[in-house]
Amino acid sequence: RPLVVAVDGPSGSGKSSVSRAVASRLGLAYLDTGAMYRAATWWCLDQGVALVDGDAVAAAVRAMPLVMGVDPKAPGVHVGGTDVAEPIRTTEISAAVSAVATNLEVRDELRRLQRAAIDAERSDGGFSGGRGIVAEGRDITTVVAPGADARLLLTASEEARLARRALEIHGQAGVAQVEATRDQVLRRDSDDATVSSFHVAADGVATVDSSALSFEQTVDAVLAVIEQ
Ligand code: C5P
Repeated sequence: RPLVVAVDGPSGSGKSSVSRAVASRLGLAYLDTGAMYRAATWWCLDQGVALVDGDAVAAAVRAMPLVMGVDPKAPGVHVGGTDVAEPIRTTEISAAVSAVATNLEVRDELRRLQRAAIDAERSDGGFSGGRGIVAEGRDITTVVAPGADARLLLTASEEARLARRALEIHGQAGVAQVEATRDQVLRRDSDDATVSSFHVAADGVATVDSSALSFEQTVDAVLAVIEQ
């Protein structure tokens, strides 16, 4: 029987790396839905679409030739022939992504693609050969896959999240630059919260707080919830 795992959480909660590790461990596919919103933002900017023009943004996203890789060991993101895995992680995209992600037509379109990717992994023809998928984002437990077999909210204290984001952006030497990242992370979370209430676990969603846990401990805590 295929296993569908839904993981939500704010930026810096560690949900991407933890979800990838869990998917690898269980032989499941992995879908990074945040990467889809980032790719949509990259595509609009690449196409010269003004992000304030909601109709133009929605039309561009519907025409986007997005190909999401779902191998947890190498989850690629391609738009047309272009590998956008790196360009979608820039601070320019991080600052602009909420503007695209708050567009309801964009959300409809990307959610449709996300459900199709999840359905593909329920069948033998998908990457996982019918084993299933870990899908991760902001609205997976509540809107995209509320019927998932396991639903988790991965949280962490503000301090832990900012420190992880700073490490991700600036590297080990930049942990001192937490302050510089602070405004950007908090602003994006508050923008995102207008469309998805991912700081509070919905009914039936288990919470894992990673603040005081190592990476391996967090993976084990998530696996324990899945096995329940
Ligand atoms: O997870 P990540 O930080 O890469 O997500 C980037 C952005 O994509 C978020 O800040 C949010 O605006 C948007 N997003 C969303 N719904 C999801 C996943 C991501 O709105 N399910």
